[in-house]
This record gives sequence, structure tokens and C-alpha cells, in this order.
Amino acid sequence: MNVRLAHIKMVVVKIEEFNMIVEILTAGIVVGIMGLLIGVVIAVSSKIFKVEVDDRIDIIYKMLPSFNCGSCGTAGCMAFAETLIKGENTIDKCRPCKPEAEEKIIKKLNELI
Ligand code: SF4
Repeated sequence: MNVRLAHIKMVVVKIEEFNMIVEILTAGIVVGIMGLLIGVVIAVSSKIFKVEVDDRIDIIYKMLPSFNCGSCGTAGCMAFAETLIKGENTIDKCRPCKPEAEEKIIKKLNELI
């Protein structure tokens, strides 16, 4: 009788272990599928909502002092670079910009615009 009871207990333990493994695998599969779906949504969104960036703005931005002080009257160096490319501003508005750098920026602007 005790041997039979011990055997039944062992079978119950094996079933519980199997159930636990199935639950772990199920959780892994669900997380994997969710990750895949989120990845697809992000990939599709990045294609649909892609913002075209004018590379010329970035070139001029990298030549500016990058203080983002706002003394030029814009929100920062990137905004100032954009106004320069659009011809809405002049480099002399950037007070921290040194004369040598100003000359280089003017030369570059002449090439780009
Ligand atoms: S003044 Fe010059 S350094 Fe300051 S935010 Fe404007 S561009 Fe940048």
C-alpha cells in the first residue's frame, strides 16, 4: 500500500513538473510573439512616419559653437543652422562664433545653397 502511494505521489510530482515546463515555454512563446509584433509595428511606423532631414542643416550645425545659448534669437544651434540654410538669418547673429569659424561657415553656406 505504501509503495503504491509513493508511486502515485511520484507521478503527481512528475505531472506538476511537466505543467511547470509547459507554463514556462508558453510564457516564452507569448513574450516572443509579442516582441515580434511590436518589432513589426515599430518597423512599419518608422517607414510611414519617416521625417526627411536636410543634411545641409546638420553640416552647418556641426560647424557652430554648439552652446545652444539662444543669443542668436533661435531655440538653439540646430534651429539657427536651419535659418541659415533657408537664408533667413546671418552668421553674425551667433555671438560666440569666432571670426575664423564664421568665414568657414559662410564659405560652406555658399557651397551648399
Ligand atoms: S548664438 Fe550661436 S551658439 Fe548660441 S544658440 Fe545661436 S548658434 Fe548656437
